[in-house]
Amino acid sequence: MIEQRIKASIRDIHDFPKPGIIFKDITPILKDAQLCEGILDAFVEQLKGTEIDVVAGVESRGFLFGLSLACRLGVPFVPVRKAGKLPYAIKQKVYELEYGQATIELHTDAFEPGARVLIHDDLLATGGTVTAASELIAEMGGTVVGFSFVVGLGFLNGKEKIEPISENIVVLAG
Ligand code: IMP
Repeated sequence: MIEQRIKASIRDIHDFPKPGIIFKDITPILKDAQLCEGILDAFVEQLKGTEIDVVAGVESRGFLFGLSLACRLGVPFVPVRKAGKLPYAIKQKVYELEYGQATIELHTDAFEPGARVLIHDDLLATGGTVTAASELIAEMGGTVVGFSFVVGLGFLNGKEKIEPISENIVVLAG
């Protein structure tokens, strides 16, 4: 099953990027082309029935499967980037982190008002990042129709945080 294959490929890195944190390293997954295909197949299967106009991938690991997923779905991909990275006109959202603030940005022409947007990231932790992305998308007139993640850290309750935005949450390995 895809969940077991993903879990078997993830590496726990202790004390990265800070002491006390166990970082889930997904890079071994990327070395397994068959597993990557399986991940895309699973996303497409689990998103069947969801009408999606655009996939918004969150910097930076949300770009890895986000673009491929958009191609599989036959829809555009747009990058949600950290401040100062996008070259064209942007709209931004400042959001709170545990310590301090962060800013994410989208190009103003990322999608048309009314677009049905799937937000994709590699990993769901607290849900703070994708919540900020959802707010930015909503401010730009888009509708978030779902979320997709390769991995979810269940103990951080990210699902509960984002359920009010959309209950359509695909987590392949939770
Ligand atoms: P959240 O906003 O707390 O849900 O954190 C999710 C964001 O942080 C995603 O963009 C992830 O790529 C990143 N992230 C947090 N923890 C990890 C981890 O253990 N491995 C990989 N990425 C992580």
